[in-house]
Amino acid sequence: MPHTDDLDQVRTAQSLVSGAQRVVALTGAGVSTDSGIPDFRGPNGVWTRDPDAQRLSNIHEYVADQELRQRSWQARLNHPGWQARPNAAHEALVTLARSGQLRAIVTQNVDGLHQRAGSDPATVIELHGTLYETACLTCDEHRDMREALDRVAAGEADPPCLVCGGILKSATISFGQALDAAVLSRARDEVEACDLLLAAGSSLSVHPAAGLVGLAARSGARVVVCNATETPYDDVADVVLRGSLGEVLPALV
Ligand code: NAD
Repeated sequence: MPHTDDLDQVRTAQSLVSGAQRVVALTGAGVSTDSGIPDFRGPNGVWTRDPDAQRLSNIHEYVADQELRQRSWQARLNHPGWQARPNAAHEALVTLARSGQLRAIVTQNVDGLHQRAGSDPATVIELHGTLYETACLTCDEHRDMREALDRVAAGEADPPCLVCGGILKSATISFGQALDAAVLSRARDEVEACDLLLAAGSSLSVHPAAGLVGLAARSGARVVVCNATETPYDDVADVVLRGSLGEVLPALV
């Protein structure tokens, strides 16, 4: 049992999970901090420690500033995700899927750790894209990230698209970029059809992802929020669990 939560709350959440037939998990960066990938806004988050790092995630600054793109490529080359392994929180969702209750994992994460833990890739909806591919901002050519990182390691500080010469970035959604409409629509469909939404490891401050919690509640689903710190959707939740996800999620499944 996670020791930081009220046991009654944990038991209520356990019974909501065991009684649900269509669970959707909405995950955020907090699910991967135990794997060594820092979140953005948690106590040890990248932006909490260095507010200027937010510029790396802004598409307008990325396009306008070559020096910032070079910094971004170095950050990608040295990203902790390349060495990271899934943790108990990712594994708990694999366990829940085995029971037949988990319909989808809607994730804001770009690290691929749900799939690497063993979650069926067909059930993982990557709202904010993936670090494992590059996308050209001009011709939209998608390629393996490894190829671009090899070029950076070989000395190309800001490798252009090999097809059209355009600006390359990771195939992730930066602030100022729209989400893929088909991906968002699929996520909304799953959330509208679920009977329990399990929001885990997200500050629930980035829209439209965060709005999926309200959509679930309006559609009649029960809502469990698991996050170390407060979220704007705690009031909407049937249960809020504050413990560490590596303990909380295994306890729930
Ligand atoms: P966020 O940084 O805004 O929030 C993470 C939340 O998780 C925080 O509120 C923090 O208190 C909580 N948390 C951290 N570790 C925890 C733990 N072990 N147990 C319980 N709670 C924990 O992240 P977000 O809401 O996902 O949104 C930020 C954006 O950052 C997303 O768009 C995402 O794409 C991107 N991002 C992704 C990764 C990744 O792929 N791993 C990492 C950093 C940022």
